[in-house]
Amino acid sequence: MADTADVVVIGAGAVGCSVAYYLSKQGASVVLVEREAIGSGASAHATGFLSLLGSEFSDGDSFEFGLAAYNEFSTLVPVLEAATNIDLMCQRKPSLRLALDDDEVVTVQESMAWQQKYVPIRWIDADEVRQIEPRLTQRARGAVYEEESTQLDSYRLTLALAQAAEKQNARLLLRTVTDLIAADGRVSGVQTAGGDIRCDTVVLAAGTWSAPFERTIGYPIPVKPLKGERLLLRFNGPPLPALISSPKRGHMISRLDGLLSVGSTGGRDYDTESLFWGDDFDRQPTESAKMELLQRAVDVLPELENAELVQQLAGSRPLSPDRMPIIGPPPGWEGIVLATGHTTKGIHLGPLTGRIIAEYLSSGCKETPQIMKPFLPGRFSSLAQDFYASSRMVEE
Ligand SMILES: Cc1cc2nc3c(=O)[nH]c(=O)nc-3n(C[C@H](O)[C@H](O)[C@H](O)COP(=O)(O)OP(=O)(O)OC[C@H]3O[C@@H](n4cnc5c(N)ncnc54)[C@H](O)[C@@H]3O)c2cc1C
Repeated sequence: MADTADVVVIGAGAVGCSVAYYLSKQGASVVLVEREAIGSGASAHATGFLSLLGSEFSDGDSFEFGLAAYNEFSTLVPVLEAATNIDLMCQRKPSLRLALDDDEVVTVQESMAWQQKYVPIRWIDADEVRQIEPRLTQRARGAVYEEESTQLDSYRLTLALAQAAEKQNARLLLRTVTDLIAADGRVSGVQTAGGDIRCDTVVLAAGTWSAPFERTIGYPIPVKPLKGERLLLRFNGPPLPALISSPKRGHMISRLDGLLSVGSTGGRDYDTESLFWGDDFDRQPTESAKMELLQRAVDVLPELENAELVQQLAGSRPLSPDRMPIIGPPPGWEGIVLATGHTTKGIHLGPLTGRIIAEYLSSGCKETPQIMKPFLPGRFSSLAQDFYASSRMVEE
């Protein structure tokens, strides 16, 4: 007889584990199915920067979603740490959105003009930047200063969400989902190598690997792999007092384990031919990315010339055509909810995604939370699916 559950979640990345956590918290019986290991996709490779000031969020629904997702962490982090005993290595510090040339001054100030409606930020000049961190390059022209931003360890977050879900009776199965069980506009379970699992709802949170399931439902799941690489460096000297990012050079963050994270590469760092080569390419660290990231790091903090390279990480982000997540049921289908396409922000947006999907399912799929509406899959029936242009916008 087939295994059964209220909900099957496909994929134990930050998004799938968040969905399993919030659903099991409200008492649903949940099976979380993962083909490799918890966090083995993009989620273990991410910086864990919960940044609001980059180019990911635009004025309106997108920024409001990012802000609500950011606020989710203030209650979630202590609850998860207490439930699992996993230190999420979460730090809250001021952030600097640094401008090193005229173009960057324009970029960050233009964004600041509308971002300050949502968060307390201000422009600081080059002298003030150097008062905060004298080791930063003399080329710094100024920065947007934010009182508080957050960074945590993305793998630990993913693991803690999975463990906390298990403590709430979610079951984790290490298996590959080979197909959906679907007929007449309704999904009623999944097929796996170890047998079928029947359920009321399947939540598809397979990150980069979500797209193949569109064959079964005949509705587009527009996600492509977008490679991202970053470096962990060790250098002499105290940690940076702020979480730093810049439009052309990405992030620079002193982690709580003492290592400095720099990165990440995005679409503009790979040539057109190699951009979407597929899984193997997308998870393989490259020499060119290493050199590019080291150069960017030295541009921002010249002392890093003597830093030691400790680790190079590469992961595959689930890129959607508008770089925003795809959350909700595909039109014409019941029994399936998509939770994918989080592009550069799946760690930041994962917990809120999990919470609103749990809310949606607990209403019997009758009430779509307001905050979820702009991210429904239906928007792609009319939206152009230009992955190339979308990838070029990814800057960190
Ligand atoms: C270098 C880098 C830096 C980043 N920095 C940040 C950051 O600072 N902040 C931020 O918010 N985001 C960041 N991101 C983006 C973030 O990592 C992703 O958006 C996020 O991890 C996506 O999570 P996910 O759960 O959707 O996908 P994934 O983590 O990829 O998880 C999908 C899971 O599904 C499993 N799976 C796939 N197919 C199947 C199947 N058929 N059956 C069973 N299981 C299956 C996979 O094995 C995988 O474990 C970064 C990414 C990279 C690469």
